[in-house]
Parts: sequence; structure tokens; C-alpha cells
Amino acid sequence: MIFGLFALLSTLISAESTTNEVTRDYCSLPDAIYADGVSAADFGATGWSYTNAANWADFVVTCGGSFQSPIDIITTSSAQEAIQPQINYKSKDASTGYEEANKPYTKEYEGEYSEIEVTDASGSVIRYYAKQFHIHTPSEHTIDGKYYDLEIHFVHQAIQDDEQDCNKVKNKLTVFGIMFQESSSATDYEAFKPWFDSNVTGEIDSFDLNDFFSKMSDATYYHYNGSLTTLPCSQTVNWVVFQQPLPISSTQLKQFQDFLSDSTLFPIKHNNRPIQNLNGRKILKGTAITSGVTEIPDVQGSFAQIIAMAILITLLIQ
Ligand SMILES: [Zn+2]
Repeated sequence: MIFGLFALLSTLISAESTTNEVTRDYCSLPDAIYADGVSAADFGATGWSYTNAANWADFVVTCGGSFQSPIDIITTSSAQEAIQPQINYKSKDASTGYEEANKPYTKEYEGEYSEIEVTDASGSVIRYYAKQFHIHTPSEHTIDGKYYDLEIHFVHQAIQDDEQDCNKVKNKLTVFGIMFQESSSATDYEAFKPWFDSNVTGEIDSFDLNDFFSKMSDATYYHYNGSLTTLPCSQTVNWVVFQQPLPISSTQLKQFQDFLSDSTLFPIKHNNRPIQNLNGRKILKGTAITSGVTEIPDVQGSFAQIIAMAILITLLIQ
């Protein structure tokens, strides 16, 4: 009897644990896009680098298109956006960590964040999954001509499911850009440490993406339609660039800069694409709501496990 119950319990528990595996369906992209646009093996191998960024259209014709990124954001010519979006990453499973992606041209994590709703430049609300984030130094976007020390890109890809028709999603990628500026009063970000810790094997514990946004006292952003900033330069990105830079310590900034000191891969010691022409595109301005963001939930026993344990205890004490 007891053995039968154990068998039943283990079935219940293993059935529950398999439901934790994340399977996601994304809107397909027009190009064979791998993460930030290009596979690690292609960097350098096919001839593109930041030294020939003016000639990327020779490699992929899209890179010479009219809606390319990054751009200089002229704050005085931006129009107010009607909808004020909420930055609120939902219910990340605390047991799911991040993997370091093997990219020679940036530092990048890939993870399994849950969905976020984002309003695109036409006013439509689109649901995305957060997929990865990576860094550029110095910044790619400039604000009124000013470069910042570093820019993080949070990359989100639109969800394919019964509730969202990918044919109606114009911008299948939304990227949030956050600026960082060196500051003597900055404390180190835990999230960045594993990139440079030789004792870590490319995997880090979960952390909350909301933390970056909750550190902003002013969540003013600029919003426009653009492209990936690496090959294949696909013009399918809904860009949201935040104005207020977050502080970064000299130590952590130098770690990123030193990463770009490989004279073969980075003879010019940066990984930011030059500013592209706006070509008449509209830039919208707004302020995101970042208060009241969700926390990562504690790992708790599943309902099935709790019920199963209660049955077992009841039977054992009889
Ligand atoms: Zn990027």
C-alpha cells in the first residue's frame, strides 16, 4: 500500500516538475536572426567588424536601409506619446537562471523571463518575452549628441499564441536601451559579475530585470522604429531608449572596456555602431511607470506536491 502510494507520489511530483520546463513560441523573424543578429561564429569570419561599419551594406543589403539604428535622439523634436507603458516583468521562475551566450562581440545573457506588454509606436499593445540582454560600450544611441559610457540592450521577441496573431505584429522585436555613466559613488551590479568571474561556468542565478528600471528616478524614454545594430540589421525593432543614465563603477566599466581591448577583434576598442540617419522617422517621448513592479516569487512547493505530502502523512500516522 505504502509502496503504491510512493509510486503515485513520485509520478505526481515528476509530472509537476516537467511542467516547469519552458517551451515558448515566438513570432518568426524575417531574417535568420540569431539573438542580437549574428551568430558568434560569423563575427570576423565573414569580414564584418566595427572597423568597417560604414560598409555593412556590402555584406547585408538591409544595413543600408532607411530605418537603421542607432540614431541620435533630438529631445526637442520628439512628440509626446499618448500611452504611458508600465515596465513590469511578470513572474520569473526563481529557479531558472541565465546562461552566458558565447558572443565574441559583446557580453550577453540569455534567460527565460516571462512576458511583458509593450505599446509600439502605432499605439498597439504587443506581448513579448524577454530573451536576452547584452552590452555596448560606449553607448550606441546618443541623446542630443551625447554619448554615454555604456548601453545595455534588453531584447524582447513577440509571442506567438492563440491570443496574438503574428501577422498583426509589425515590430517583432522590442529592445529597451538603458544608458550607464561612470560614477565614483556607484556600487557594483551583481548581475554583471559572472561575466568576469573565472570561477563561474557561464551560468548565473536568477535576478530581477525590474531592478534596473526601479533604480531610475525618472523613467523618461524615447520611442522609434529602427533596426538591429549588428548584422543582418533587420528593420523590425521597436526601440525604447531611456534617458536617465544609471551609475556604473569604474571597476565594472573597465571590465567591459578591457573585454574590447583584443586588438584583433576590436582594433578600435568599442562595439557601438555609428549613428544612422533618422530619414524622417518620428521619435515619441513618454515616461514609463516603473513603481510597483513585481518581485521574483519565492520557490514554493507546488499544489500537487503539497496535496500528495498531506495524503502520505495522513496514511503514515494512521
Ligand atoms: Zn545591442
